[in-house]
Amino acid sequence: MNSKILNSLIEIVGKKNVLTSKEELFAYSYDALHFETSLPLAVVIPNSVEDISKIFYLANEEKFGIVPRGSGTGLSGGAIPTKNSIVLLMNKWKNILEIDENNLTATVESGVITGEFQSIVESKDLFYPPDPGSSMICTLGGNCAENAGGLRGLKYGVTKNYILGMEVVLPNGDITFLGGKNVKDVAGYNLKDVLIGSEGTLCIFTKLLLKLLPKPQTQKTMLVTFENIFDASKTVSDIIKAKILPSTLEFMDNVTVKSVQNFTKINLDTTANGTLLIECDGNKFQVDEEIETIKNICKINSAIKVKIAETYDEVVMLKSTRKSAYASLARSAQQVISEDVVVPRSELSKIVEKIQTISKNNDIPVGIFGHFGDGNIHPLCLLQSKKIDENKLEKMLNEIYEATISLGGSITGEHGIGLAKKDFLPKAVGDISISFMKSLKNVLDKNDILNPGKIFSPKTRCEGYLPKNIEQIKNFETQLWI
Ligand SMILES: Cc1cc2nc3c(=O)[nH]c(=O)nc-3n(C[C@H](O)[C@H](O)[C@H](O)COP(=O)(O)OP(=O)(O)OC[C@H]3O[C@@H](n4cnc5c(N)ncnc54)[C@H](O)[C@@H]3O)c2cc1C
Repeated sequence: MNSKILNSLIEIVGKKNVLTSKEELFAYSYDALHFETSLPLAVVIPNSVEDISKIFYLANEEKFGIVPRGSGTGLSGGAIPTKNSIVLLMNKWKNILEIDENNLTATVESGVITGEFQSIVESKDLFYPPDPGSSMICTLGGNCAENAGGLRGLKYGVTKNYILGMEVVLPNGDITFLGGKNVKDVAGYNLKDVLIGSEGTLCIFTKLLLKLLPKPQTQKTMLVTFENIFDASKTVSDIIKAKILPSTLEFMDNVTVKSVQNFTKINLDTTANGTLLIECDGNKFQVDEEIETIKNICKINSAIKVKIAETYDEVVMLKSTRKSAYASLARSAQQVISEDVVVPRSELSKIVEKIQTISKNNDIPVGIFGHFGDGNIHPLCLLQSKKIDENKLEKMLNEIYEATISLGGSITGEHGIGLAKKDFLPKAVGDISISFMKSLKNVLDKNDILNPGKIFSPKTRCEGYLPKNIEQIKNFETQLWI
């Protein structure tokens, strides 16, 4: 980085808030998408919204990129720095500014950890439903940028359903607040919904105004095992046909369950090919009735075993099976690639079977788990070597996307496009949508300074730039800093 830019950044945020050591740059060179990494020019921690605005002015003048980052748990590479970019680190913005019990809203800074926020509002008998599997580490800003889903999507929806307003900094340096506490508001275009899910390419979220619900009176959790995936998936359809919306309706295949059992040692049935984690919440009478109906539906669909948690410890144990799926599978392989496809719920057993066949044909094992209630599954490709045969992997992933699209699905339900899927996006959404998205980006960010190279920008922006291993990173760093 040239010293003029470095000095200007230091002038804006202070010396201690501009990280430039090798170790620090390396620590912010990747996110949870394992296989693409690169070094930022610097990591910058803003003190205020005005700092961010000034950094945008500087970036537009000096033409460097800004890559926003929350906790770096994203699974599509959205927080990975691309060429000639700084990382703008938002995870220090941790204040909960207001919990308004009259309007059932909360105002937070965007670096607040989702799980911590959930616990705080629950202690006031309030409830913030979006519950990504990473809730104990990810930030609310990152959730907003990815429109994160999670384990309660079927009944409660996803992050966008809980964002009433936002303070944002636009790429030209403008600071504005969109939305507000009004339950209804149709004044002009719905700009806030354009920004939600924009993967850090259209604005920086600095504050969020979140909608809260009253905390459900009670909840009941059950784990059900099936001999085959078809029975598990039919059970999901039958539960919904019975007009029950469980707060959680999650699936794990046999590979995942075996791996979770190895990791947690909690006596899971490792012979089952389909396991469902189901939770209902609401008032006690309604929950008891729903659980009873679900139990019967499971029996009709030949469930092997229905385990209903009787104590709080059992609830925690059953839930931990699904929440530890990713970590358990990741431990069983040298490297994992997490996929995220979504299909209409009626096609769930077909997509699972197709992915299992694709996995066998390509000789890359997968563990499949996910939010069956939303039709959203996460096949985790389990690579047994640090060295990836990228052609083979790309072929397999393309086959998974093709299979998903052929069933009327989408190539991402919640993890986003980022770097991981941008080559496939035009095929998934079509040229007109791509051109619409690019026009929006161009209006807001004509110099392409905010998270460049993500979602749909030309591949060339990153080509030849992303080092693939530590040796390459070392060499690349030398080129940058000399
Ligand atoms: C074990 C595990 C389980 C997961 N489970 C789920 C799940 O159930 N559901 C789900 O949806 N996702 C899940 N994820 C993915 C990930 O946790 C989410 O995408 C999450 O929203 C990312 O938050 P983060 O703070 O880590 O953001 P980061 O990874 O830091 O960033 C994600 C994107 O948001 C942008 N961004 C971050 N902060 C801001 C900001 N303040 N302003 C503007 N842009 C910003 C970044 O540039 C990047 O493009 C999981 C990940 C892991 C590792």
